[in-house]
Amino acid sequence: MSNSKKFTRRDVLAASGALIATSLVARPSFAADKVTEDDPTAVALGYLHDATKVDTAKWAKRAGDAGAKQFCNNCALYVDQGDGWGACSIFQGRLVAGGGWCNAWIAK
Ligand code: SF4
Repeated sequence: MSNSKKFTRRDVLAASGALIATSLVARPSFAADKVTEDDPTAVALGYLHDATKVDTAKWAKRAGDAGAKQFCNNCALYVDQGDGWGACSIFQGRLVAGGGWCNAWIAK
């Protein structure tokens, strides 16, 4: 006779739930990194945390009245995180400032 216990579906679900709960509690937060202005991609795209400081002679896309209205927080690639920063797909989901800008800006 065997001592092995047959596991029911309920046992498996309970164990799975416990594992998921444990991993959620034990896992450190996944706060995304903030893009720095000296990041190579940021430099290549003219990204700045403060769009009003963009050199519009160099980055003509942000010149003029229309350009002055371009900010990360109204860019189609910006996903707001609710704290003045948002994830940007150009930077693989790292955070950019809502008031920032880069030359890849696309209207929402
Ligand atoms: S692509 Fe859009 S959200 Fe991303 S850095 Fe450039 S302007 Fe900001």
